[in-house]
Amino acid sequence: MTLRETLLKLEAVQELDLQIGVLQKKKNEMPARLASYDSQISLLTTQLEQKKKISEEIEKNLRQNQGALELNEERMKRSQTKAEAIKTNQEFQAVQKEIEALKKNTGVLQENVTKLKSELEVAQKSVEDIQTQISAIEATRASESEKIGGESKEFDTELGRLSGLRAQAVVGIDVRHLSQYDRVRSGRVGGVGIVPAVSGNCKGCNMRIPPQIYNELQRGNELHFCPSCRRILLYKEAADTQKSSGSSAGSH
Ligand SMILES: [Zn+2]
Repeated sequence: MTLRETLLKLEAVQELDLQIGVLQKKKNEMPARLASYDSQISLLTTQLEQKKKISEEIEKNLRQNQGALELNEERMKRSQTKAEAIKTNQEFQAVQKEIEALKKNTGVLQENVTKLKSELEVAQKSVEDIQTQISAIEATRASESEKIGGESKEFDTELGRLSGLRAQAVVGIDVRHLSQYDRVRSGRVGGVGIVPAVSGNCKGCNMRIPPQIYNELQRGNELHFCPSCRRILLYKEAADTQKSSGSSAGSH
């Protein structure tokens, strides 16, 4: 195989590599699509824990107030029974005063209980709301995950097909040239390792190729790299690139 034939084969290999690269990138990006759901769920879970804690605090406070209210009512009953059995005016006034204080206390406690009950309702409502939101996001995440699984399988099938084609395409290429190509493309944006040289210019970076190198390139006896972007150069007539302009891709 001549060097020129090798370079043309490498160009065909590169077409496959570029397709493989695009698919691989899409496949690698897929899990990130789930990350936003995960962060939303984790944020809401934190909020849920906070609201639950608040709700529990209110409930505890409510129970304490209800207990105090019961106690207060019992004491009031006792005071009233005591008042019925009173004999002296002085004693009556003292018990009456006691009853007044207990009544006042009952009022305060009843107000507390009412206020806490409505606070509890609000807190429990927001716990339910957050739980509903979490369930909705979890459901969306699950269906997205299933979709990704399906797409991933399709990508794998296509990647398998392209790798098969690549394995066929590299047959006959000198291992040394193939590894040079692999080394060049691995360090380049877009994975382009071999580029056409047309009318004295590198199509990879659009820089002018020094005339001496360009002349040697046209003779096709040895491998040449663009002095500017270091990619492997493949000499092409201006007319050739019209047909295969798809292969002139990439930048630095
Ligand atoms: Zn270049």
